[in-house]
Amino acid sequence: MHHMANPARRDVGRSGYFLVVGITVAALLLILMACARATPAPPSSPGADPSADGSPSEPPGAEEDGTVPDGARLTPFDTEHPAVANLEPWLLAALQQAAEEAREDGVELLVTSGWRSEEHQRRLLEEAIEEYGSLERAREFVNTPERSTHVSGEAVDIGPTDADDWLIRNGSRYGLCQVYANEMWHFELLTEPGGTCPPLREDAAG
Ligand SMILES: [Zn+2]
Repeated sequence: MHHMANPARRDVGRSGYFLVVGITVAALLLILMACARATPAPPSSPGADPSADGSPSEPPGAEEDGTVPDGARLTPFDTEHPAVANLEPWLLAALQQAAEEAREDGVELLVTSGWRSEEHQRRLLEEAIEEYGSLERAREFVNTPERSTHVSGEAVDIGPTDADDWLIRNGSRYGLCQVYANEMWHFELLTEPGGTCPPLREDAAG
């Protein structure tokens, strides 16, 4: 019995050894995979999704530069949001008056974009260049940071479509005008309250 037990125990010992080696190798592979996955993450994380990395020390960069998150229902009264807060005061005041009137007509004016930082505008232009294939085409929809009235706080984009319709029909009562024929959502303060809006420009490139 004694002689038989020894080789058996040695077999167990050997298979145990391979088991340990196997587990160690598997663990190392898992760690390597985790590292490989973790490494590219940091560069893309700042501003990519503020909710994903909600560390309190990091400001919500995406919103600080005027980004309005998809699906956000931002009204002209949400003045804690940089996109609204940094609008020119007279534009904001006109917009708030218009929003109150619109609400009485059962229409809610939502701010889909307002003030934008230069960096934000530059990013939008770069995205548009990628989408439309050239700076010339992109400029029909997105201005350069130097020329954008969003960057200077003098423009606001409004949605949804029924709100745009309402503001196109009634905006001039508050001095608010559609500016570009190809952007029914983009409004600026371009006349006196009750005045007449200037003729539409073809697009932002003109
Ligand atoms: Zn706009």
